[in-house]
Amino acid sequence: MKKLLSIVVPAYNEEETIPLFYKAIQDIESQLPQVELELLFIDDGSKDNTLSILRDLSKNDSRVHYLSFSRNFGKEAGIYAGLENAKGDYVVIMDADLQDPPALLPEMLGYLESGEYECVGTRRVDRKGEPPIRSWFARRFYHLMSKISFADIVDGARDYQMMTRKVVDAVVSMGEYNRFSKGIFGWVGFKRKWIEFENVERVAGETKWSFWKLFLYALDGIVAFSTAPLTIASIFGLLMCVVAFVFIIIIIVRTIIFGDPTSGWPSMVCIILLVSGIQLSCIGILGQYMAKMYLETKKRPIYIIQEKEL
Ligand code: UDP
Ligand code: MG
Repeated sequence: MKKLLSIVVPAYNEEETIPLFYKAIQDIESQLPQVELELLFIDDGSKDNTLSILRDLSKNDSRVHYLSFSRNFGKEAGIYAGLENAKGDYVVIMDADLQDPPALLPEMLGYLESGEYECVGTRRVDRKGEPPIRSWFARRFYHLMSKISFADIVDGARDYQMMTRKVVDAVVSMGEYNRFSKGIFGWVGFKRKWIEFENVERVAGETKWSFWKLFLYALDGIVAFSTAPLTIASIFGLLMCVVAFVFIIIIIVRTIIFGDPTSGWPSMVCIILLVSGIQLSCIGILGQYMAKMYLETKKRPIYIIQEKEL
């Protein structure tokens, strides 16, 4: 019997791109003779006609299934729902906007079929067509993450990856509420092959990520997969103590030798401001972790389904 390949597609307001995506998959199908296909779309609370397009598609093609969320839960929730509900022996996550070239599918499948790898990831080698400032921040973020996180996070890695059932089960078993896929996939391990490709621009529609949204996502990633900020805060605090101690001794000695002329108020104000600033930001860092803990302990569902066809 042929194995089943599930294609998981998170989609938020993708009415323009889904038909194009569906067509692109049909075009590549003949190059994947060794597997049956299943398409699982996750409508992430779209406000346009995404859902009705999905209904039509699944009516006409029994291999097309969909889940529809009760509101926008974010791409991470979409990926999780997709992995949880995909039936395939192999599962691949793809964006609806064709920025993840379907032409790579046969090669990816080949690596998994060979039995040597459990997961095939893709990474962009460039960021052509992206605002330069955004690219710069993205690169800094990956550079920082690779240093401080306890998962293996690769620059330019996309969510576009194909994996075996083992990896799917491992990822689904990580039921954390604050999901950061790039970290989760790095954390679960397994032997992984990287395929590189050049950036492709969206076929239609617009990106759902504003700079601000990306920035917050980056912060989430750091908090979810690194405790380095906490360590840095502690070390900084200790260093400040040492510095203060040295200053105290200097001042005592100076007072004994030269007396105590009243001076140095402006510098005192600066020091108070500096120290209280550092304290506040360290409390802020602590707060970030507490906030995540708070949300995590509520054990809320990662997504809520309002309609499904599986
Ligand atoms: N997406 C989603 N929920 C969201 C935002 C995005 O499911 O809240 C989907 C979107 O429909 C697309 C994929 O995630 O299939 C990638 O989004 P986008 O192309 O906007 O991001 P970019 O490629 O610009 O990083
Ligand atoms: Mg995109």
